[in-house]
Amino acid sequence: MAHVILSKKCTACGSCADVCPVDCIKHSSEDSQYPKFYIDPETCIDCGACMPECPVNAIKDEKDVGSEDITEVEVNAKFFSEGPGYGED
Ligand code: SF4
Ligand code: SF4
Repeated sequence: MAHVILSKKCTACGSCADVCPVDCIKHSSEDSQYPKFYIDPETCIDCGACMPECPVNAIKDEKDVGSEDITEVEVNAKFFSEGPGYGED
């Protein structure tokens, strides 16, 4: 399990990335397919530190992601498996 950023809510402010102890919240400034921040599910340790930092409540524990947002789990993972991942800032 991991935490998940709901891309339709994320405003790409970056606040969550600043507090992640394992530095697994990333974004791409160049790939327009991935305009928001995403959490690497392989590295996230489920500490929850990012959640209170988000001003728009866009971060959820994967187990709490509802059926209406379930595709976001794959969107976050794809950023790292097929998208820029850790390749940029
Ligand atoms: S739950 Fe913890 S490890 Fe996972 S993305 Fe948030 S701050 Fe990082
Ligand atoms: S704190 Fe929230 S709005 Fe800001 S980048 Fe993180 S998930 Fe997106």
